[in-house]
This record gives sequence, C-alpha cells and structure tokens, in this order.
Amino acid sequence: MDVNCEGCAGCCIDWRPLADVPLSGEHGGERPPIDDTYNLVPLRSGEARSLVDAGYGDAMTPRLFEAGPDDDSVRVDGVALAAIGNRPVFYLGLRKPTKAVAPFDGERRWLPACCFLDPETLQCRIHDSELYPNTCRVYPGYNLQLERETECERVETAIGGPKRLLDSTPPADVDPTFSAAVGTTVFVYPDPDELSGVVSRLAAAELTDDDRARFVGVACGSSPGTIEINEAAADRYRDRAASADSWVGRSIQLWADRADSHGSTAAIDDPGAIETVEGAPETPGWDAVHSPDDGSP
Ligand code: SF4
Ligand code: SF4
Repeated sequence: MDVNCEGCAGCCIDWRPLADVPLSGEHGGERPPIDDTYNLVPLRSGEARSLVDAGYGDAMTPRLFEAGPDDDSVRVDGVALAAIGNRPVFYLGLRKPTKAVAPFDGERRWLPACCFLDPETLQCRIHDSELYPNTCRVYPGYNLQLERETECERVETAIGGPKRLLDSTPPADVDPTFSAAVGTTVFVYPDPDELSGVVSRLAAAELTDDDRARFVGVACGSSPGTIEINEAAADRYRDRAASADSWVGRSIQLWADRADSHGSTAAIDDPGAIETVEGAPETPGWDAVHSPDDGSP
C-alpha cells in the first residue's frame, strides 16, 4: 500500500460539494447513519479514553444507525435505530467543523474537515502523536483488504489530478474484523430512553456538548468483546468530556462563527492560525515529508 496525500486530505474532509460524487459505502449501505457526516473516523474505546485523558473530550461525536431489515431495532424520536437487543448501536468519531481549506490545488472553500486537520497544510496535527487513531494509521488498508473502493480512488475519479493510490497491495498487518467488533469501535448505549431528543439533534447536526459527552462516557466505559459498561468509568469520562476546554473545542466555535455555506469561497488569510492561537500543534509542511507512505496525511 502506498498513497500520495500531499494536497489531498480527501479522507479527512467532506469534499462532496466540490464534485459530483456517487454515494459512498458509508452512506449507501443497508444500515445508513442518521447523520450526514462524511468519512467519520471510528475510534476505539482506548483511543477515546486517551483523547479525554489528553483534554480532548470535546473533539468527539457519536454516530447512530438506522436499522437494517434483519437488525434488532429500537425506536427513538421516530427513528428505528440499529440495536443489540434494545440498546442502540453507535460509533464514536472525530468532529468535523466547517473550515476554510483548499484541497486538490483548488480555491480555498468552506468544507467540513476533521477537527485535527491543519487547514493550511492539509496535514494531521496529531499524526506523530500517540493519539493518532488506528483508523487513520492504516487507511486505506481495510478497504484494500475488503476490496472496497478507497477514498483515494474516489478522489482520482471525481477530481482528477495526481494519482493518489500508488500501490493497492493490501497491508498484511491490519485486521478489519477485529476493528468492527463490539466494544472496540462498535458500542451500545445502555438506555434508549435517555436518547429522547438527542437522536433528533444528531440528525439535525445540532448536538449539545452534553449530548456528545454522554456517548463519550459510554464508549470510554466499554471493553472489547462485551456490551457491558463499566458505569463508574463511563460516569467519570462523561464528566471529564463535558467539562473539556481544548483548542479543538474553542476552534470549532471560532469556525462556526465565521463559516459560510459548504463549498462557497472562503476569503481567510492564514486559516491555520485560527487554531494555533488557541494552542493547536503546528504541522511540518510537505517539504519535510519525503515519502508519504503511511496511509494518511
Ligand atoms: S489516504 Fe488517500 S484520500 Fe486520504 S489523503 Fe491520502 S491519498 Fe487522499
Ligand atoms: S488523519 Fe488526522 S486529520 Fe485526518 S481524519 Fe485522521 S485524525 Fe483527522
């Protein structure tokens, strides 16, 4: 596997406003998410705990799914949610505020982008840290192993420009079945009654900090291979997530105050500074990266 990520960030942003893109597997399957976020990065329970421990409890957001025809389901806010028994199934991912980014050598535009993406260099601010999610570390390894289309190929087809997927040999050291296991990246919410109102807000992209924190807590209290929750850990992490005040959360508010409609031109000088003045780590720039071969920006 080898990818050419410079100037791309296709797997970190929602670039659908820039091109006529066919529905992706993420939104076109039997069990569609109820939100419209593109390329959500599913986090493992241990990664969620590490993010909260590092002060980034305000960087995460949940994803719930509509039930497929053969799924258990529970109805909340009028939506039949995919469930295990009567417990709604969810992912936890990274938030995507609308930022001023200029992917694919194009104009700077307002597009949803991962909260950790440097909008200037289109590099990941946590790439070299222990917080870097496994999903990003191995991308697009799972797709190649499962013979699913990669985001790199979608960019090549819809945008053109330089070749992005340079070597499509699946990596030997990633296990897609482990990644999709209950308690690893697939979590269950213990009490669907608590989600009344939350489901509607998630579908409308209007979640509150408290809404997000309740899912962060459950994911952090989960363990691989079981739907049982460590309630003491869940409560502790929920409280810490609810009170987080990181540069990510502060920047998301700043972006929200400035952003215009998705795909419109963004006249912003030095967009990276909006985040670095709040404490975001700098990225090295592409001159410092000679061989982008690790599967992600
Ligand atoms: S992994 Fe693929 S889609 Fe993501 S930035 Fe690199 S080339 Fe683009
Ligand atoms: S590589 Fe970094 S910026 Fe891109 S989705 Fe993953 S965490 Fe976000």
